[in-house]
Amino acid sequence: MTALPGTVWFVGAGPGDPDLITVKGRRLLERAGAILFAGSLVDRSATQFAPAHCEIRDSRDMTLEGMSAWLLDACARHPVVVRLQTGDPGLYGALVEMTRPLDAAGIPWRVVPGVSSAMAAAAAAGETLTLPEVTQTVILTRVAGRTPMPPGEALEALAAHRTTLCIFLSITLLHEVQRALRAAGWPEDAPIVVVHKASWAGAEKIVRGTLADIKRRCQDEKIASQAMILASPALGARLWPDLARSKLYDPGFGHRFRKASMPAAAAGIATGETA
Ligand code: SAH
Repeated sequence: MTALPGTVWFVGAGPGDPDLITVKGRRLLERAGAILFAGSLVDRSATQFAPAHCEIRDSRDMTLEGMSAWLLDACARHPVVVRLQTGDPGLYGALVEMTRPLDAAGIPWRVVPGVSSAMAAAAAAGETLTLPEVTQTVILTRVAGRTPMPPGEALEALAAHRTTLCIFLSITLLHEVQRALRAAGWPEDAPIVVVHKASWAGAEKIVRGTLADIKRRCQDEKIASQAMILASPALGARLWPDLARSKLYDPGFGHRFRKASMPAAAAGIATGETA
């Protein structure tokens, strides 16, 4: 009787700090017979949870075909094979390209989500991505590099919504980000925050600037890779003198889990929504 093939687990390693891997992801690493990790973006320390004798391979110098062949081979020998990816595997992670050969070979696979660098960058900078009455929408995007943007997704068009933008893979194209935001009518003093290596101990850098000066500030800090660009009308809100309150925690606003402790009118808010 032949043994069942192993399962390939696409595990989100989170943004860098090994403590930001999910408990589920860590448990899988502890049981893994083989781990293929994206060494260009995932710190090797993320494989510290692997058991002794686990096969560990950095995919940095491999092609997609090479990675698929490695995973298929590992599955023939191990019940648990982990592909460890930076952040969340579903964002700019070539997930489909890797799962299709597995499907074709009849190998089962699953995905374990991870903390995306978009969230880690906001956390590092102490910023919120949504703010009542300012922006309630987050766009995760990039500018065109060697990968073109599909029709309708040019940054200029997305920026016209004036929502929060988390811009991946674009730090070397900051001039293009500036051009697009200007074309969409963002003012020169619009705040922009760039976070380099969010959550990496000793390496994280947070650069705060404006549309006008963010490129120069990043050049001064020599940031040329692994950076998240956050552009949002909510940036810096913790320093604003006036702020619309989130209705969820307002004393005048009751909901499913809490009765209002004062009338909505006295709390100075409009009714009609729940959060
Ligand atoms: N799946 C990943 C994104 C991979 S694409 C995620 O969910 O985060 C690689 C891009 O992600 C980089 O160019 C950079 O824009 C961003 N990135 C990844 N790790 C980062 C980190 N620790 N700090 C800031 N940006 C990061």
